Amino acid sequence: MVETRKNVLVFGAGLAGLSAGIYALKAGYDVTLIEKQDYVGGLCTTWKRKNCTIDGCIHWLTGYKSDKIHEVYEDLGLYDEKDLYSPSYFYSFRFEGKEIKIYRDLDKFEEELLFFAQEEDKELMKKFVSACKTMATFPIYKGKPDAMMTMADGLAYKAEIMPCFHTYIRLLSKTLESFADKIKTPFLKRFFLSFMPKNFDFAYFAAVIGKFSNGNADLTRLSSKEFAQKAEQKFLSLGGKILYNTEITGLEIDEETKKITSVKDSNGNTYSAGDIISTIPLPTFYAKLLPEEYQNPEVMKTIDDPNTPFLSSFICAFRLDEDYSGEIPHSVSYGSEGRFSLAVSSADHILVQGYPYMRNPDGSVTLVVMVDQDKDDFDYWMKARENGNYASKKEAAVKKIEEILLSQQNDYQGHLSFLDASTPYTFYRYSGTYCGSFLSNLDTPDGHRKELPYQEKSLKNLYYAGQWLKGIGGIPSALETGKYAVMTLEKNNRK
Ligand SMILES: Cc1cc2nc3c(=O)[nH]c(=O)nc-3n(C[C@H](O)[C@H](O)[C@H](O)COP(=O)(O)OP(=O)(O)OC[C@H]3O[C@@H](n4cnc5c(N)ncnc54)[C@H](O)[C@@H]3O)c2cc1C
Repeated sequence: MVETRKNVLVFGAGLAGLSAGIYALKAGYDVTLIEKQDYVGGLCTTWKRKNCTIDGCIHWLTGYKSDKIHEVYEDLGLYDEKDLYSPSYFYSFRFEGKEIKIYRDLDKFEEELLFFAQEEDKELMKKFVSACKTMATFPIYKGKPDAMMTMADGLAYKAEIMPCFHTYIRLLSKTLESFADKIKTPFLKRFFLSFMPKNFDFAYFAAVIGKFSNGNADLTRLSSKEFAQKAEQKFLSLGGKILYNTEITGLEIDEETKKITSVKDSNGNTYSAGDIISTIPLPTFYAKLLPEEYQNPEVMKTIDDPNTPFLSSFICAFRLDEDYSGEIPHSVSYGSEGRFSLAVSSADHILVQGYPYMRNPDGSVTLVVMVDQDKDDFDYWMKARENGNYASKKEAAVKKIEEILLSQQNDYQGHLSFLDASTPYTFYRYSGTYCGSFLSNLDTPDGHRKELPYQEKSLKNLYYAGQWLKGIGGIPSALETGKYAVMTLEKNNRK
């Protein structure tokens, strides 16, 4: 038995675990993070192949520079003015030689839309840009868990929503698809449908674009791994302890006191538990660690609600050699000729990320390509692993992606070489994320994802953080929920 006098054990050292750990240290607890990998960051990571860096996460950071959630990045040591990268556009769509960019300057974006729009679409495009401008102020960060909101907090939040309330209500029943259905210009129709799944909430889409324009969505020049390591440094500097290569494998629960009394790990150690904050992706924690009789039935019902789907991805990386002299893309979707499928679901575009500030030592650039996948695709990849044809199926998927990329960007011909590929199963294997999803549930007009409780109601010393606690997920949610788990724990311990 490893003797410990620690008050808080945090399971998982992804961004939520690091956030919970830092806030718990700041609140005066002794904290140990237990992480199954030999690195922190979880999904927010970067790796190497053939001396090339493959960045597997950050495309944009909502609220990094401003917005209320900026204070959380500051608290965690994640914000530094000199790391800030604020590109003039954050997404573009290319098809058949045409390209449209979502510029930070929304007037310039409107010009782009009007340039491509057929006459009958022009008014709709103007209305759309006007909605993005209004939705830019939509508050996404409340500063405390829903369960701790007082009446005064509720009123203050309502006052914040007020300037965009009417626009929000007007857009609420719309999806990207229902908006695209109104568009007559084929190129613009495809552009709008390339951004997120077709049933994605249109109000949120307008808010994302608005926030980018008013400086609330930026990038960091750091790789995703370096970004997570900044929080690791902060955590260690405050006196926290991290156990790497340590997987939680079992929990001892005392039925009478309703407490987890000890925790087992993959190295054969047992820890006595004080308070626990688990940031292991919640569905995986339920499936593998928490006995069913202690589980809250609402949790999986909420996560598995088909009206709030979640998104996984097939990712492959290519080396674009140093002799390529064209523009390095920052975030480009390429439309494909017709729909294609890598597993079960079908898609009509691929998303290519190429970070121009992250050159490999030989001057080449890594391009990371993502193709949307869903739950059925996850099952497909998992079955392929069992059947022994995973590698050949992966190879076929990479070939398809390369073919689409070269058909739309033919000056890459002779400059591209394959580096690596990951399926949704790969993400599940590394971080335990549910069905390989890299975000949690997305809001649609048919379903608004509610926040899950930060404490397991059947047990007295088990708390949760992580992107699965809140809709859409992503880095801000992971960081925010770490803070909220500690606020909930603090509230209980003060009782
Ligand atoms: C390709 C990609 C692109 C993305 N792009 C963006 C973006 O542009 N902007 C954005 O905001 N977000 C983005 N995200 C999402 C973002 O990475 C996640 O929302 C966030 O990192 C989730 O953090 P988390 O701590 O909740 O979960 P995770 O990162 O899943 O952390 C869980 C941790 O628990 C550990 N763990 C699991 N089981 C055990 C166990 N039994 N014992 C011990 N440890 C365990 C895992 O190893 C992991 O470290 C992207 C993700 C991916 C994959």
